[in-house]
Amino acid sequence: MKKVAIIGAGISGLFIANLFKRNKKYQVNIFERNSLINSKEGYGIQLSVNSIKLLNKIQFDKLENSEKFNPDKINFYSVKNSNKICELNISDFNTENFKYTTLKRSSLINFLKKDLEKEIKFDHTISKIEQQDQIVKISFENNKIYEFDYLIISDGVFSKSKNLLSKNQIEPKFNDTLAIRGIIPSSSNMADKKNISLFLGSNFHYVIYPVSPNGDLNFIAVMKFKLSMDEQKDFSLFNNDNFIRKILEKVPHLNKEFFDSINDLKIYPVFVSHDFFEVNNNNIHLIGDAFFAFSPSFAQGASQSIEGAYELFENIENDTESNFFRNRVDKIKMVNNRSKFNQFAFHLSNPLTTLLRNIFLKRLVKNKRFLEAYLGKIYKN
Ligand SMILES: Cc1cc2nc3c(=O)[nH]c(=O)nc-3n(C[C@H](O)[C@H](O)[C@H](O)COP(=O)(O)OP(=O)(O)OC[C@H]3O[C@@H](n4cnc5c(N)ncnc54)[C@H](O)[C@@H]3O)c2cc1C
Repeated sequence: MKKVAIIGAGISGLFIANLFKRNKKYQVNIFERNSLINSKEGYGIQLSVNSIKLLNKIQFDKLENSEKFNPDKINFYSVKNSNKICELNISDFNTENFKYTTLKRSSLINFLKKDLEKEIKFDHTISKIEQQDQIVKISFENNKIYEFDYLIISDGVFSKSKNLLSKNQIEPKFNDTLAIRGIIPSSSNMADKKNISLFLGSNFHYVIYPVSPNGDLNFIAVMKFKLSMDEQKDFSLFNNDNFIRKILEKVPHLNKEFFDSINDLKIYPVFVSHDFFEVNNNNIHLIGDAFFAFSPSFAQGASQSIEGAYELFENIENDTESNFFRNRVDKIKMVNNRSKFNQFAFHLSNPLTTLLRNIFLKRLVKNKRFLEAYLGKIYKN
């Protein structure tokens, strides 16, 4: 029996743990730095058909319908005047069993962790990784030491495990954007409850979508914002009411009244990867945001985390681990280019380029060949 260690109980770590657990050839342990997994968070997540297909392999299709939603369209609007620009039928990529899905992040996490009670070890922060022939020795800050055949690193964008292996050479960078998240109560009539609404503004865009058939809606905005090096390192700033108010005052066209109607408003600086890190050992692999984190403008982070986890599992199963890194880099590059392009196009500020963008957008959302190349290629696996 092969022993597998997973560092980090986020979406990617929990998903791959489920895959290993279902196979008797492996014994799996997940090491999580925190003392519990936050499963109350009401914020949402969008999952495209590529990840739904893989999640269904561990019975995601059995998750109650009341906990998930299948939007038909993405409606594009202008932030400035709320006029509709065009619509994209996202459900055109659906099949009978795999549908574009929105849900609460906590519903996904609860689903992923439900069979892993015995496998998750909390309060374990990794401190050292030693590679000895085919064995990987892992030490934790609580002085515990374990040996494994495989080490899978899924400890997120600020991956400490990656820093230990790369000697701090590959660090994420601040993307000059802030993410503003919140929850719009179902009682509100300020949003479409059946579709995804995407509002485009100057150096700013926001998205509202339902996370269940009759429940709340998720609000997520991405705004260009400069932070000094000191501000980038000071996460306590984002709990400071004065700092938050100063940021919200800078949001174009949305006033205090708008933000007052949103619950659990939180602001985060967005950090992204700029480089890949290849581990010179077929028994150690990175997945999820630890492998590569992109800007949230294409809503593919979680879907790619799930896809990468599945690919790695299959490669380990088939003894083809050496193929994993290159194949994943190719796909991630495609997604990253689209994420960067989306952010650029969504944030245009010059009136003439904005007008041209809207004209192109109206045509492109109806152009099957373009949609197949831009979205279909990513949603295939
Ligand atoms: C604002 C925003 C909106 C987004 N919206 C979407 C969306 O709609 N759709 C989508 O597909 N993606 C979205 N994403 C991206 C998505 O959330 C991430 O890509 C995904 O959660 C990454 O999962 P992960 O498992 O790799 O990392 P994480 O979810 O970050 O999990 C890492 C885990 O590792 C643990 N950990 C960290 N350090 C250590 C350590 N040293 N030792 C042990 N454990 C450790 C952490 O506590 C955590 O549990 C969004 C991202 C942002 C920032």
